[in-house]
Amino acid sequence: MKTLHLVFMGPPGAGKGTQAALFHERYGPPHVSTGDMFRVAVRDGTDVGRRATEYMQRGDLVPDEIVDEIVRIRLAQPDTARGVILDGYPRTLPQADYLDALLAERDRGLDAVVSFEIHEEVLLRRLTGRRVCPTCGAIYHLGNNPPKTPGRCDLDGTALVQRKDDAPDTVLHRLQVFRQWTAPLVNHYRKRGLFLAVDAERPVEAVHEQILQFVRSRAASP
Ligand code: ADP
Ligand code: AMP
Repeated sequence: MKTLHLVFMGPPGAGKGTQAALFHERYGPPHVSTGDMFRVAVRDGTDVGRRATEYMQRGDLVPDEIVDEIVRIRLAQPDTARGVILDGYPRTLPQADYLDALLAERDRGLDAVVSFEIHEEVLLRRLTGRRVCPTCGAIYHLGNNPPKTPGRCDLDGTALVQRKDDAPDTVLHRLQVFRQWTAPLVNHYRKRGLFLAVDAERPVEAVHEQILQFVRSRAASP
């Protein structure tokens, strides 16, 4: 694949970050997660972090202008020249329009928008069991994908943590925010023929394979 521009969208806990990390590992384009970028900014106490923190704690969306700006800066980095896997961006229609304009400016376009479809009860199990590495962002699940040493990241040995916004009350609010703001993007992208809905309840490798087949079929089409 010469260049690869993917958008992974879906509710929190659907597996977007897991698949994005896998695509990065196997095919190279950077995994750009706006959520990860905000978590780093909050941890480091930057200006963006201070502006984002209260929205994130509540499970609300960070305002579009803040998110668009960090994506603009990230997509100007040289490692994105051959593509990018966007995880959790865009999440609103104005963000989707902004992304289109940003890519068009650089003569780039999206290859696929993948919507992760999953029932709410599966999501809730995934979110309560999710553990992440605060150093490298690696994602684990206590039941489905546990680390080799309990409580420690396989990659760097850091003690794993539970995300604060994976607390049950915040999770329910995040799901409602998803339904209100992000779910309508499905129609926006479906019209453009680059849209793939995947059954995100299947095992990690099966979901990966389905996305890969779609991306390859699009790359082969005239
Ligand atoms: P998202 O980025 O969409 O919020 P994650 O990739 O963090 O979701 O996945 C949420 C949780 O579900 C994690 O604990 C992850 O290990 C687990 N998970 C991801 N994909 C699958 C899958 N296909 N089957 C079972 N568990 C999964
Ligand atoms: P995530 O890691 O994708 O679940 O994102 C965690 C949190 O970061 C979200 O609940 C939002 O508060 C914020 N966030 C991440 N991406 C976006 C986005 N595209 N638009 C608005 N807020 C975002």
